[in-house]
Amino acid sequence: MHLLIGIISSAAVAITAYRKHALSAGGSVAAVVVGTVLVTTAHPFWFALMLVFFVTSSAWSRYKRKLKRQVAQQFAKGERRDALQVMANGGAAVLFACMYIQWNDPVWVWAFTGSLASVTADTWATEIGVLSSARPRSVLNGRKVDTGESGGVTLAGTLAAAAGAALIAVCGYVLSPLDDVAMPPRWHYIFAGTAAGLIGAFVDSLLGATVQRQCVCHVCQKTVESLSHCGRKASPVRGVSWMTNDAVNAIASFSGGVACIFLMG
Ligand SMILES: [Zn+2]
Repeated sequence: MHLLIGIISSAAVAITAYRKHALSAGGSVAAVVVGTVLVTTAHPFWFALMLVFFVTSSAWSRYKRKLKRQVAQQFAKGERRDALQVMANGGAAVLFACMYIQWNDPVWVWAFTGSLASVTADTWATEIGVLSSARPRSVLNGRKVDTGESGGVTLAGTLAAAAGAALIAVCGYVLSPLDDVAMPPRWHYIFAGTAAGLIGAFVDSLLGATVQRQCVCHVCQKTVESLSHCGRKASPVRGVSWMTNDAVNAIASFSGGVACIFLMG
């Protein structure tokens, strides 16, 4: 029965997202898989928290879209999330939800909160920070970098990250599947969830500034994330070849989840 509800409710979300151009066809299929796993937990916490991440992040992606298009070419992907992006953002959270189904231990609720706080913080920071008129600075050495370049942070983006993580933490507290005995006090939970999200977003920026693959376009000379730009092949100049934006997102959300286990304890 839960399986059926899972498939129907996630398909409804995925179809809406596909029609609104928030997900590609592959991304929609991945979203149905993610949603179905979360609904089989038999508690609204898991699905609802993922939905808060997904709906708010898609809304921020649409915000001032035309302005962002000018810098969007620099990002590895377009506005539509494909299957890899869905798994990179939601994979760690789904893994933690499966751990909870298996072992029923509260730590997996905290890990789930922390990983979703991380991806929400990171997406909000990217979507809002890119609009900042201030030039981002490298999280590593404070040197000014191009808008949209990985590893760059702005004050607006950092505040957005904190707000996104806090929203997940508050929703996580309100919707928690745990009883009062297993739950940390309200402000402890909210603080830990927010801090874990910021840690995850920081890991994302740090990896973005160090090991994430960066290429240079031979036409416009810009530093880009994808292997092609301006219709030509771009050459890798820095980072590890497999360390794409998706890989960085996956590692960062996993780190945020682990951090949250320690912060809640
Ligand atoms: Zn170019």
